[in-house]
This record gives sequence, C-alpha cells and structure tokens, in this order.
Amino acid sequence: MSNLERAPAEVRCGSPVDHEGPGGPSRVEVLAPRDVPLGGPRAMTVRRTLPQRSRSMIGAWCFTDHYGPDDVAATGGMGVAPHPHTGLQTVSWLFSGEIEHRDSLGSHAYVRPGELNLMTGGHGISHSEVSTPRTTVLHGVQLWVALPAEHRLADRDFQHYVPEPVRADGAVISVFLGTLAGASSPVRTFTPLLGAEVVLAPRATLTLDVDPGFEHGLLVDQGDVCLAGALLRPAELGCVHPRSDTLTLVNESDGTARAVLLGGTPFEEEIIMWWNFIGRSHEDIVQAREDWMSGTRFGVVHGYDGDPLPAPQLPTVPLKPRRRTR
Ligand code: MN
Repeated sequence: MSNLERAPAEVRCGSPVDHEGPGGPSRVEVLAPRDVPLGGPRAMTVRRTLPQRSRSMIGAWCFTDHYGPDDVAATGGMGVAPHPHTGLQTVSWLFSGEIEHRDSLGSHAYVRPGELNLMTGGHGISHSEVSTPRTTVLHGVQLWVALPAEHRLADRDFQHYVPEPVRADGAVISVFLGTLAGASSPVRTFTPLLGAEVVLAPRATLTLDVDPGFEHGLLVDQGDVCLAGALLRPAELGCVHPRSDTLTLVNESDGTARAVLLGGTPFEEEIIMWWNFIGRSHEDIVQAREDWMSGTRFGVVHGYDGDPLPAPQLPTVPLKPRRRTR
C-alpha cells in the first residue's frame, strides 16, 4: 500500500547498529502503534509500528502497517490508486479478505489469507491495491523491506508463495520468508530475513530456535502474548536484540492468539525513507519524486479505473539527520 500521510516526514534509518542494545541482549522493546488514515472520505485506518522515533528497523524490515478487522461496508475497505516504490520490497499478508493487486510489471494478482505476495520495487515500480467486492472483513499487514545498496536498483519483480503451515507445541506456523520451525520459504530475499505467521492455542507456550545473528520483532494481532518475558497486547510490536538462539512465546489469553514474527540481520546501511521511496540521499528522494510526477521510471498500471496518486510536497526544511535508531 501507499504511505498516504499528507506531509510525510523524511526518516533516516539504519545507521550503525549497537548489537548489544542499551539493556543487554535480553531486553524487549515494546513499541505501540500510531493510527494513520489511508485517505478517502471513509478513511480506513492502519496501525503503524515501524518506523518510529525509538526504532526504525528490524533487520531490513522498515515499515509495518497492521489493519483490521475492518468492516468494509462501514469503512469502504482499501482503495489505493497507483503509486510508486523504489529501493524496497512490499510484503502483503492477510488474515481475512481479499485485495486485487495490479502493477507496472503487468502483474494482476489477488492477495488472499495465508498467501505471500512480495513485490520488488528495485529501481522503480508502481501498483494499485483495491479490496475486492466479495470482501466483507479486511484484516492483515503490509510490510516493507529495505533493499541493500548493491540491489537497490534491482529489476522490478512480483512473487507469490503459499507456505504449508507447520505444527509445533500448540502452534501453527506459516513461514513466508526465511526458515523457522523446520520450514523454509523458497522466496528470494536480498538480506537474511524471517517472516512468519504464528497462531497459538489458548495458554500455549512455544519455544523456537532462531538465528542468534538476527534481531526479531513480534507484531501481535490477536490475544496477549508474552515474548521473552515481556507482555505484548494486540497491535504492539515487541523487539528483541540479537544473541538469543531461542525465543519463547506464551499465549497469556484464553482464546487463540495470532502474531507475525519478523527477523533479520541488523541493517547497517544508512537509508532515507520518504513517502513510498527509499534512497541513500536526499537527492535520490527528490529525483524519485520528480520521476513519478513526470511519468517516467515507474511504468504504468493498466486496468485501474482512476488517476494515480500525486506525490506529496517535499518538506521545506532541510533534512536533518536523525539520531541513531536501531
Ligand atoms: Mn504500495
């Protein structure tokens, strides 16, 4: 989806990483979401946990939006007109509902629950995302992955993958990127990454072997989940520093809990995110905006009934580097 903030701030992320973290390797940072309207008269709202001031990334994961369960009859659902991306991949993962995806590669796909759709922006792509008429409840996450410098101009690409869920200790785990609980996704990433949906039976305790070189984040959708000793409520994102080789999740509720587990090696390059773009400099962002507004570089989305989204105005104040955020 698009970042539809009217005046998006330029965010500098991913500068040198303190692998230990201020509270030592076992400390869990709990990030609360902020509500961001997606625009339109009946504005569907998303809950954004990344980026934020205290932390901008988990591995190469640089943007986490969580939405729903949303009664589409009341909110109008999702209707995001063609918009560009560069320097990143988008990951769409649904819990319920259906989204029709069209992009300038010519892809026309339906995003459905339990199915990964990963779009590589690379040098430049554009896409539209619209919930389908048969959707009554829309519920899911939209995540972005920053591309490392050597691959940031990669060819545009679109991949679809349906993981086979695996069972372990009262949990059902769907690994859509990377490896977890004996399951591996074949989908190619440009940095080591983990992405998985974890569904926990009431009061279940699950201990997972994880890569000790990864930092991890658990975004809770439903239920109260204890992560490495810290209680997370729905819509909160718990972040764990590297150096753990196991992670323990406990469903502290009497109903089923559901969460998305993200991981990756700390992203040590400095990047700048603005609107739907990731660049290495302010000039990269200015150029991407000019290219979108002049109709070059990002291609054309065919089959969408409506105009593309105009880019917001760039901030008028000079870009100020942000304090290092892990
Ligand atoms: Mn998008």
